[in-house]
Amino acid sequence: MTFKDEVLSRRTFAIISHPDAGKTTLTEQLLLFGGAIRAAGTVKGKKSGKFATSDWMEIEKQRGISVTSSVMQFEYNGYRVNILDTPGHQDFSEDTYRTLMAVDSAVMIIDSAKGIEDQTIKLFKVCRMRGIPIFTFINKLDRQGKNPLELLAELEEVLGIESYPMNWPIGMGKEFLGIYDRYYNRIEQFRVEDSERFIPLNEEGEISNDSSKLKQSGLYEQALEEILLLNEAGNEFSREKIADGTLTPVFFGSALTNFGVQTFLETYLQFAPSPQPRNSNEGLIEPISEEFSGFIFKIQANMNPAHRDRIAFLRICSGEFERGMNVTLSRTGKSIKLSQSTQFLADDRSTVNNAVSGDIIGIYDTGTYQIGDTLSSTKGKLQYEKLPQFTPELFVKVSAKNVLKQKHFHKGVLQLVQEGAIQLYKTYRMEDYILGAVGQLQFEVFEHRMRNEYNSEVIMESIGSKIPRWIDESQVDESLSSSRSLLVKDRFDKPLFLFENDFALRWFQDKHPDIKLSNPLE
Ligand code: GDP
Repeated sequence: MTFKDEVLSRRTFAIISHPDAGKTTLTEQLLLFGGAIRAAGTVKGKKSGKFATSDWMEIEKQRGISVTSSVMQFEYNGYRVNILDTPGHQDFSEDTYRTLMAVDSAVMIIDSAKGIEDQTIKLFKVCRMRGIPIFTFINKLDRQGKNPLELLAELEEVLGIESYPMNWPIGMGKEFLGIYDRYYNRIEQFRVEDSERFIPLNEEGEISNDSSKLKQSGLYEQALEEILLLNEAGNEFSREKIADGTLTPVFFGSALTNFGVQTFLETYLQFAPSPQPRNSNEGLIEPISEEFSGFIFKIQANMNPAHRDRIAFLRICSGEFERGMNVTLSRTGKSIKLSQSTQFLADDRSTVNNAVSGDIIGIYDTGTYQIGDTLSSTKGKLQYEKLPQFTPELFVKVSAKNVLKQKHFHKGVLQLVQEGAIQLYKTYRMEDYILGAVGQLQFEVFEHRMRNEYNSEVIMESIGSKIPRWIDESQVDESLSSSRSLLVKDRFDKPLFLFENDFALRWFQDKHPDIKLSNPLE
């Protein structure tokens, strides 16, 4: 394969959904088709404990949520597919938002009984903002759910996206008979042996064999009527609208019973975009341009407890990665040799020798990288678009329970902070540590990981919500620090105030009009 063909064979996407809609189940099925895993139940520690590959999965198991996003890769029909998992819990939306910057399309799973849920709306909006194509999988058809026409109406009303059903359910729940496939012009029967599963349709889109049992069924008749309605009054299929994210192809199925998943995958691969150009300070960078470049969207410590390593996730945006190549880190201008790298095949990591635009690779990090860093093989200062960052709202003071274990404590705090989910601040005189996060769950994860990965018990004392505002170094005046406007340094030693509330912020502004307060995160 030529380099260009390699790039064109890539499909890189994230699955977005509200917790429990079936993301893990669908991911497992997709990986099975790709032969990337031996049996379902191995993607996360969530379902079968023995596959949990590292400590931080413990907390996912306990809470029944996925906390971290991970990357999985498989091959299917000549395509190389990268799935980026996104954490379902709302406190982790920042991580999710960054992950969505690294994909070219998204698969949205909807539970047919629940319809569009909160978290789906939030994630959808991010995809919308970025104009990325969205493919919808309406799941759990083996259970009684909402009327499919109602579900489509919800998509259009709640999310404001046009929809085009690629297939249509015939019955559901106990009476689920299968799907009418508008794209392949056939019916796929539910719980029917492989050899008889598909019934081809004639030119009128109907079953020709009069003795077919399915044809006698009232549910089949009803589905035909609904499809007629869709043909006449529904949206037209449009590749352009799919590409700009204004129309979503909709698939019905049941991930748990592995029904409709393969058809979904095959159709998805045909219509999903190959790697797309990305914005940078030097304009749009084409994926087929030969200079290697990419950006880091996630840093994760201790993915493998046996190695105690930290991995930076890099989305390749152009060119080809080769092991041992030299790249420039734009932020510092430093040259780095990329000799240790990894790619992600389900729960197993294997060394990657080369990868191209669209692929996600993990590179070993010894504290060199930051989220949003651009690496490229050019000597210039290529820099990809900034990644979204949220302003922390909750703050805690943190210290080591055992004063003799300060070393572990400092190491753990610094490494976990580097991942970007929590922010670190230091007070001026005592150099006390203060952590800031978007949600409470991040602190719980922090505490858990400090204990399990760094053998450090921590004391966390809540100091409530605060409003951070940065100031210029020249205006630092420690006498202005009080409990209502606490002067601290961030982890890059930039000074800022943590204001107790809006009132304290306004009061300070009135009193010190000469001090310019800013928030680079907004
Ligand atoms: P996630 O939180 O989105 O990753 O959801 P999971 O994949 O863990 O699924 C949540 C629950 O829904 C689990 O108990 C699954 O077994 C169940 N589930 C997933 N897909 C289906 C489906 O197609 N039909 C039914 N009946 N249950 C499903």
